Amino acid sequence: MDPFQYVRAESVGQAVRVLAEHPRAAVIAGGTDLTTLMRDRVRRPSHLIDLGGLALDTVTARPDGGLRIGALCRNATTDARIARDFPVLVEALRSGASPQIRNRATFGGNLLQRVRCPYYRQPEFDCNRRDPGSGCAALAGDSSRHAILGTSGSCVAVHPSDCAVALQALDAEILVRGPRGERRIPIDAFHRLPGKAPQREVALRRDEIVLAVEMPPRAASAHSHYVKFRERASYAFALASAAVAVELRGGTVRSARIALGGVAPKPWRAKAAEQALRGRPLDDDAIDAAARAATRGATPRPDNTYKVRLAQEVVRQALTELGGA
Ligand code: SF4
Repeated sequence: MDPFQYVRAESVGQAVRVLAEHPRAAVIAGGTDLTTLMRDRVRRPSHLIDLGGLALDTVTARPDGGLRIGALCRNATTDARIARDFPVLVEALRSGASPQIRNRATFGGNLLQRVRCPYYRQPEFDCNRRDPGSGCAALAGDSSRHAILGTSGSCVAVHPSDCAVALQALDAEILVRGPRGERRIPIDAFHRLPGKAPQREVALRRDEIVLAVEMPPRAASAHSHYVKFRERASYAFALASAAVAVELRGGTVRSARIALGGVAPKPWRAKAAEQALRGRPLDDDAIDAAARAATRGATPRPDNTYKVRLAQEVVRQALTELGGA
């Protein structure tokens, strides 16, 4: 680990100022991802701005019935309102990591965690995401756990978060603050596809910090579910996962939001699958159509074609278990 200057933030404004003044500064909260990246010299910040003392760790109700979750809330949160109104989020968080990790990891950090591509995390390998323009070792190496949707010739890594996949299904917004004040970023615009610049992972500017995650009230959100397929039941990143939220009226799907994890460089909104459900009863035929539509446009690598079928199956399972109640 390289030397760095430690700064204990006394306020959000101070944290933003230090970020703006030092181009290589980084913020730390739970530290479950950043510290391992620093240990392995993948990230080498000049300043480490500790947000741990800031009052960003509460869950509050919005006037419209939605919920605001502070960026420093732990992934082990037991807030009953989340479980009641947004069950897919609790299910995704529980599947995301061991209890020890969830007791440290924060909502803000979860959104900003880096890819788990082994080549990214070992500086001796070429990686466009870590060292822009160096190449992509995964394209000539093992890409069996990599993406099948949203890839580019520059990067085929998958986003590792479960929480962010659930937030896609909940139509969440990310509240951030920088030197020019606060702004909201829809979750679908927060994480970026790699294109020719995979190092630009999120829409968050270098001098902004995440303040909160906000979920609006949606009829579908309370009727939602998460299914994750992984290699070890105890704890592993998703090979494929699905977050589904469905609003039914008179037995017919009025609206649906479906997101995939483990198959794309960002939490992947499956709009074709949502469209396949709309206006139909949530029966086997509609679920089958949605499952097949979920992977429309997939471009698997030779060693991860299995993910196409797997992604369809997690969508099928999530919708079937959700049922029409
Ligand atoms: Fe780097 Fe992306 Fe290639 Fe992995 S897939 S080596 S993260 S460029």
